[in-house]
Amino acid sequence: MTQSWGQFKSFEGRQFKALDAEFTAEVGRLLGGQDLSACFQCAKCSAGCTVSDKVNIQVHELMRMLLFGLREVLETDMVWLCTTCYTCQERCPQGIEITDIIFGLKNMAFRKGIAPAGYLGARKGLYDTGRLYEATDWEREDLGLDPVPRLDVRDTQKMLDSTGLMKLEESED
Ligand code: SF4
Ligand code: SF4
Repeated sequence: MTQSWGQFKSFEGRQFKALDAEFTAEVGRLLGGQDLSACFQCAKCSAGCTVSDKVNIQVHELMRMLLFGLREVLETDMVWLCTTCYTCQERCPQGIEITDIIFGLKNMAFRKGIAPAGYLGARKGLYDTGRLYEATDWEREDLGLDPVPRLDVRDTQKMLDSTGLMKLEESED
């Protein structure tokens, strides 16, 4: 088991008791979820996963948890540390759309109030400033570049408002 990241903790030694068929059915309705039961645990997805050394469960274990109806899967950092590189999806011999399922899990987790603080901060920062990172003037003059252009944040906010990003509340359940 690797060192856990952010707010999420290792599952080592934890007992899972409730197998929730409704949760498995819910995941089955996600984009890609229709083929969930085709997973035969070959772990080829995990063998190619780009964050396998950073997460508290591996992606094939995530798939197993989904099939077993373990809602605790939403508390795993695999859900949030997945870089959506699609390597697992490309490698899966069963053609399961694993990355698309993980996208859906992110949404499910967020609605239950499970999200790393960094993501929430990034959302607010993007809305408030129109940028994820503050651009600096460092070395621009030396490189013959103009000063960092001013940004009208209202344009960004209008666009983000149209996506409903800021209306998406944590813990809607
Ligand atoms: S590669 Fe596909 S079949 Fe193999 S464990 Fe991963 S999801 Fe399951
Ligand atoms: S899409 Fe996510 S889970 Fe799949 S290999 Fe990439 S980082 Fe790992």
